Amino acid sequence: MSGPLAPGSMIGILGTGQLGRMLALAAAPLGLRCATFGPEAEAPAHDVCAFHVCAPWEDLDAVRAFGARCDIVTLEFENVPVAVLDALAGVVPLRPGVRSLALTQDRLVEKRFVAELGLSPAPFVEVNSLADMQAGIAQLGLPAILKTRRLGYDGRGQVLLRSGDDAAAAWDAVGGAACVLEGFVGFTAETSVVLARGADGSVAAYDCPQNTHAQGILRRSTVPGPLSPDQTSQAVAAASAIAAALDHVGVLAVEFFLGTDGRLVVNEIAPRVHNSGHWTIEGAVTSQFEQHIRAVAGWPLGSTALTGAGAVMDNLIGDEAGQWLQLAAEPGAHLHLYGKSQARTGRKMGHVTRVSAPRP
Ligand code: AMP
Repeated sequence: MSGPLAPGSMIGILGTGQLGRMLALAAAPLGLRCATFGPEAEAPAHDVCAFHVCAPWEDLDAVRAFGARCDIVTLEFENVPVAVLDALAGVVPLRPGVRSLALTQDRLVEKRFVAELGLSPAPFVEVNSLADMQAGIAQLGLPAILKTRRLGYDGRGQVLLRSGDDAAAAWDAVGGAACVLEGFVGFTAETSVVLARGADGSVAAYDCPQNTHAQGILRRSTVPGPLSPDQTSQAVAAASAIAAALDHVGVLAVEFFLGTDGRLVVNEIAPRVHNSGHWTIEGAVTSQFEQHIRAVAGWPLGSTALTGAGAVMDNLIGDEAGQWLQLAAEPGAHLHLYGKSQARTGRKMGHVTRVSAPRP
């Protein structure tokens, strides 16, 4: 791709969820248009995009035809099959590139990649059989978490094993899928670095929030977060090294545990905009969504400075989105609803952000 995308250009987004919706909403003020591709007939991004193509990921002719209608293609979903990305090669520029996805779609490959960079993943063992799992338990001890290598998110594809639990039952629960067994990390807090990397290698990182989870799902992100200035520098350096090694272009998030010993342990890499960055829509000068659009469009990155003293973002999960009228009436509460028609348990339906006033 030569030079920045001109206003009026079309950005194709692979995936049709709320992240795609918020990307398209952020592109509009810059005069850039978005389209989405995905298998869902109804989806959050459809309402706000110039057009959408509804086709299965396996339909590579539809993928190529979609790419041909766009000036650049990006993604909001990290499990886009690599074959889809390969199909777009030579049709349209793709940002981020295949490497960002190939290395992060498989937990085992991702953890080895993190360790090879000299960073600390949670202790892990590859598990392909019940015998591997028993050997892993002997090595790592309990509690431990069995995680499928592929397609896990929001705590899905994970089984927590406590002392006395039956290893065979956990192995059955994941259906014998290829897994990693992870040692349980004792932590005082969870945090994340959300950063953008431009095609020229420039990097802009946001403040690191404190992230609290329940049942494996993010509930709240709070800024300022739990890290000291030194720990912040270490976390941002680690995430920047990951982004550079992936030659990533766009926003990328790295989730960390702050260990009880004060060390940072890498939990997970997301090669896309991230739930723990939603607070930036109102809490930072440039939102993570605008920043991603700027990065993939070859525009200069925007300021990541806080607009106030900090922000608190709460996810609205399942029927919590039913509080929309009270939240809309609350002064200073920024309500975001994703347009999903069914409020299933555990489903992210929206979020609300409250920004605290600037320091006097
Ligand atoms: P994940 O989907 O792997 O990010 O896991 C979801 C959540 O489960 C994390 O944010 C943690 O709260 C918890 N968790 C996952 N892995 C571990 C671990 N190895 N040690 C302690 N807690 C974990």
